[in-house]
Parts: sequence; C-alpha cells; structure tokens
Amino acid sequence: EPKKIPFKTHHIDQKLISPNAMKVTQTLQQAGYKAYIVGGAVRDLLLDIKPKDFDVATNATPDQVQALFKKSRAIGKRFQIIHVTFYNNSSNSRDRMEIIEVSTFRALLVETGKHIANSGRVLSDNVWGSQSEDATRRDFTINAMYYDPSTQVVLDYHGGMADIEAKVLRMIGDPAARYREDPVRMLRAVRFAAKTGFTLEQNTLAPIAQSAALIHDVPGARLFDEMLKLLMSGHAWSSMTKLREVGLDQGLLPMLDVILEQSDQTSFAKLALDRTDERVLQGKSISPGFLFAALLWHQVEQQWQRNSQSNKPSIVCLNDAIDEVLSAQREVFAIQRRFETDMREIWSLQPRFEKRVGKMPYRLLESVRFRAGYDFLCLRCQVGELPLSLSTWWENFQNSSPEDREKLLIEAK
Ligand code: ATP
Ligand code: MG
Repeated sequence: EPKKIPFKTHHIDQKLISPNAMKVTQTLQQAGYKAYIVGGAVRDLLLDIKPKDFDVATNATPDQVQALFKKSRAIGKRFQIIHVTFYNNSSNSRDRMEIIEVSTFRALLVETGKHIANSGRVLSDNVWGSQSEDATRRDFTINAMYYDPSTQVVLDYHGGMADIEAKVLRMIGDPAARYREDPVRMLRAVRFAAKTGFTLEQNTLAPIAQSAALIHDVPGARLFDEMLKLLMSGHAWSSMTKLREVGLDQGLLPMLDVILEQSDQTSFAKLALDRTDERVLQGKSISPGFLFAALLWHQVEQQWQRNSQSNKPSIVCLNDAIDEVLSAQREVFAIQRRFETDMREIWSLQPRFEKRVGKMPYRLLESVRFRAGYDFLCLRCQVGELPLSLSTWWENFQNSSPEDREKLLIEAK
C-alpha cells in the first residue's frame, strides 16, 4: 500500500505544472481511468524545480489512450507509449510544441528467463500490470511517486518522500540485479546525483564499480542518447567527475578517459563542458556536434601530430586523424551521423584560421560553418593552445569595414 501524502505535507506548486499535463490527466480521469503525473516530474516538483517534461501513467491501454486524444501517436516497440502533442502560443520556439508521454502501468518482469539475455538484460516486457507493479519496476525511489493533480495527493510506494528529504538516491529492489537488467541505470544514477546533489545510498553505489563492464552490452544508440543526456543536463562537468568517482570511467568510453585525464581546471574539455553548462542553465541551445568536437579534440590533435611525421600535406594528415578518431569512437558508441558531419567541419576548418593571407580569410568568413569553427577557435585560444591575439584578430576581422580588413591583413603578416 502506498503512502498518501497530502498537499499540506508536500506543498507542490501547481503553477509549475504544464496545463497540458493537467489536461491529459483530467481527460483520462473523466473517461473513468486512473491517471497520474509520474516519475521525474514529481521528483522535480517536490524539489520545487519546474519539470522540463511530463510523463503520465494510467491504467488505460495505449489504444484506449489514443482514442481520447486526436493528436496522439504510439511510439516504441519494447514499451508502447502514447505521445500526445500540444501546440502552445509561445514566443519561444522551443516551447511551442509540447509532448506529454502517456504510458500504461507496466507489470513486473516475469523471470522466466525467456525475456532476459544471458547477462540479465531485459529484452522485452510489454505487459500491463497494476500501479504497484508499475512503481516497483521504476529505478529510484524518488522517481516512483504518482501525483494526482485533481486531489493534489502524492502516492509514494517506496519511501521516495523520505529520500527526497534526506537527499538520498536509492535504487528500488536489489541494486546489483537492477543494474544487470538495465546497465543504463548506472548512468542514470550518476546523472541524477549530479543534477540534484543527492548522495547515492551505499547499496545503490556499491555494485556500480564491479558492474561497469555491463555497459558494453547496451546498444550503441541508447548509450549515445544517455551520454547526450548527461552532457546536456546542465551538470555535464559534475556528471563527468561523478562517473570517475563511482568507478564508471575505467576503459568504459575512450572519450571519457580522455576527458577525465585532462581534468585539471584549465583543460580544453573542462572549459567546453563549463561553457555548455552555463548555456543550458541560461536556457540557450547547445550543439551536440560542437560539444563532441570539443571532447574529442585532443585525440584528433595527437593523432594529427603523429600523422604529420609522414610527408603528406598537413590537411590530409588532419583528415586522416579525424577518420581514425571517429572510427575508434564508433567501436564504443556511435555518434549520430549528422553530429559527426558537424564535428568534421569544425575540426577541418581549424588550420584555416591560422592562414591569414590573401583571399583566404575572406573565403573562410563565407563558410557556412564559420561561426562554429570560430567559437571552437576561441576555446583553443582560451586554454592557451593558440595565442589569444588570434581569436581577437578574427573577432576584429568579422566586424570590420573592407578598408579595416585590409589593414588587419597587413598587420597579420
Ligand atoms: P529527466 O526527464 O529529468 O531526465 P526522468 O526521471 O523523468 O528524468 P525519464 O527518462 O524521463 O527520466 O524517465 C521517466 C521515468 O521512467 C523515471 O522517472 C523512472 O521512473 C522511469 N524510468 C526511466 N528509465 C528507467 C530505467 N532505465 N529503469 C527503470 N525505470 C526507468
Ligand atoms: Mg522525464
């Protein structure tokens, strides 16, 4: 039986709740179903943080949900989830469309072995269940609470409220087994610890170091998504140091090893991650291609230097280095193609910033990727890889009149 926590205890501020999420729970409830806001949104509301997205859990089946909402579609094979889409009149283009994710209560795994891979990883479990089962198969106690906006009651099945108060992140059930079922939960533990500043409860923390190798069983695309979430959480730097703290860095991701190797305060990766965190917290967009380009730059640079011992032209050596680094990265997790394209462009523009003669700077300025390449150059100058005067020169060159540009070119000689 869940604890029923009334408003006077939790004080959830309904102004932080998306009206669309309220509309979804109301519509479902009026049709006679159970419906709650669930998971991360409830956790955030209890911490007085405005949730960035809302999940709804219901006892209606996906078909029954879809019948109630015109603009809805089923997604996912493993679990059928319904996405209900809303269009808002917001001046901010990012807020104009909102998707409320509606999922049907899910059953606990039947441990017949049929659904479970050798390592214990769950392969398929698309079976509906009771609300209490749904709560038990969630990851952390603070992610397993249900909020009913109409009664303002929070249903707490696993002591999440007490853990919120104690600032503790605790896995539901036997943590080692839960990590075997889904190794991504280890990365989620790190992400939430970095985001909330909560402590990982002892038994939740302990098995992670020994279970680190399980990450290799996770499909590359899912690992990429999870890494992207870590990096875009607004707490990228603390997430990366946390990964090392819990023992998830050892040989896990070649990229991470490199980032953490240079974890001194002035490293290129640290600067890039700090800047990313700042932008995320200010609500600005960030470009994953730029970010991954920054994280892998040292590898590219080192490989470029090694390649330069041959007699090939420098730009060929650079492009070879780029190919080599990207294919090594693909062995672990594939960075999506479109981001790879951005990364290649940002990297291969770099030598051109050092060629300040004749028409070359004008041509570089015309390049569609100039802005990203220039921002990248600025990072390199800031960490002392190149003189600061170079980024200043480019800043001036961009903003100058034609005559002044000619003067700058003469100065650069
Ligand atoms: P955020 O959206 O801020 O990253 P979240 O907790 O909402 O955090 P989601 O990935 O949106 O994370 O997942 C929603 C909910 O689904 C979680 O709160 C948790 O209850 C459950 N969940 C998600 N991933 C897992 C998992 N790998 N194992 C168990 N439960 C999970
Ligand atoms: Mg969420």
